[in-house]
Amino acid sequence: MKNFSNYTDYDKKDNLHFESKAVHGALGTEPLTGAVSMPIFQAVTYRHPALGESTGFAYSRLENPTRQELERTMAILEGGIKAFAFSSGQAANMAVFSLLNPGDHVLLSDDIYGGTFRIIGDVFGKYGIEHTYVEMDDLDAVKAAIKPNTKMFFVETPTNPMMKVADIQALSEIAKSVGALMVVDNTFLTPYFQNPLKLGADIVTHSSTKYLGGHNDTLSGIVVVKDNEEIAEKIHVHIKSHGSQLAPMDCWLLLRGIKTLPVRMDRHNENAKKVAEWLRTQPKVKKVYYVGFEDHKDYATTIKQTRGFGGMISFTVDSFETVQKILRNVDMIMFAESLGGTETLITYPTTQTHEDTPKDVKEKLGITDRFLRMSVGIENVEDIIADLDRAMNS
Ligand SMILES: *Cc1c(COP(=O)(O)O)cnc(C)c1O
Repeated sequence: MKNFSNYTDYDKKDNLHFESKAVHGALGTEPLTGAVSMPIFQAVTYRHPALGESTGFAYSRLENPTRQELERTMAILEGGIKAFAFSSGQAANMAVFSLLNPGDHVLLSDDIYGGTFRIIGDVFGKYGIEHTYVEMDDLDAVKAAIKPNTKMFFVETPTNPMMKVADIQALSEIAKSVGALMVVDNTFLTPYFQNPLKLGADIVTHSSTKYLGGHNDTLSGIVVVKDNEEIAEKIHVHIKSHGSQLAPMDCWLLLRGIKTLPVRMDRHNENAKKVAEWLRTQPKVKKVYYVGFEDHKDYATTIKQTRGFGGMISFTVDSFETVQKILRNVDMIMFAESLGGTETLITYPTTQTHEDTPKDVKEKLGITDRFLRMSVGIENVEDIIADLDRAMNS
């Protein structure tokens, strides 16, 4: 048994498979007591043995043992040199966009999380950072959108909520060729199904509020840096300056969630496939957006770069009345924002997650008043389908 006597040494567990790494983290056990669950270090400051001596911890905005275990675990799972845990996915993405300077330009997936629209438009726009939305699954469109000052590609794949898939490796190569950073928001698939850093991306971000936490009980965000120490240092300075780090209790909840990530993802994946196939047979359902369909236009890219399809489905129904009927009549399934938790949620993106997305963009994408998004949970799939069937058809 590897026994650590301090918080400095830890094990990357390179000899273990993903599932085992998720369970055992970085230190795995607490070094001094052997506690099998990393304790919640609810302390702000740390006593020093003497002048010039330190335990490695000084003040919890800078470092905290519970957060350190989470950050190291995420670096291990995504395959990066360093990870940072933030108070939300928004805070994580704020840190990434802060790497840009006035006059820089960023390319973003056209169909992106509503909050990300807000960060880059409302917050960073006024600091002189330019942006262009582009269909990331169209490499010619991406090349055409590049400007001399393009410094970052910010890519969500699959996209939210239209389930478009971008080729991470091809985009990373294009980004590299023009000296831009390639960032992937890996919220939807998690490192269990998709490893952007191995495909050439420089940075991965997460709203770990979703699948990583997995229980709809903790807001949090993660940034993982692949290999660039300078970028890691900039993110470190950002988190230290903004004070947007994740609190110890929430770090612990996330560590606990991550232990079961692989089993949960497998079940999400299995259930979503069955629900998507069922939806497709329904007369009131006009179109189903699901990356696991063999006739999805990006299917070849999906199977090249991921090991699973995840738990997200969007669909369009025949009328606004059907939307209202479903949202009023679901029983076990909950009409609520967010995704990635154990429970099945159904969302109405037009006025919820994508409220702030410009109307013309929404219309172009197909986010209409007949459009719904589902985060398929890990309940028994027959119950999920029965609930949908009753809500929609009776
Ligand atoms: C939810 C979400 C975010 C924002 O994360 P919060 O944890 O809610 O701040 C960012 N990106 C994606 C893809 C999301 O689903």
